[in-house]
Amino acid sequence: MTTQEIKGLLFAKVSELTSCKVRREDIAIGKNADEMDEIQQGSDRTLALDSLTRKWETMTLVSEALTRIESDTYGICVECDERIGAKRLAAIPWAKYCIDCQEQKDNSIAERWDNAA
Ligand SMILES: [Zn+2]
Repeated sequence: MTTQEIKGLLFAKVSELTSCKVRREDIAIGKNADEMDEIQQGSDRTLALDSLTRKWETMTLVSEALTRIESDTYGICVECDERIGAKRLAAIPWAKYCIDCQEQKDNSIAERWDNAA
């Protein structure tokens, strides 16, 4: 993939993420709802916030990837300086870590959850 193609993918992702805004009413708390409605709205709200958080995280990764293209470090793992696999980049053009480092991160997050429980 050329740099231009990668940039195209990243910009496409940015416009995808910014085009589907979460509606305000999905997050707002209903004042006149009865209890069941409140429970339902509560879980809808959690889902809406959850997807908002994920979008925000992806946005950050995409903008970081664009910065790395500018500084000529795109496709290099920020953790171990190894090249990120072409397949991985094709699947996730904004990948920040190589597959090994990503797995380690995922595991350490899982461990933290285990310890917290
Ligand atoms: Zn790595």
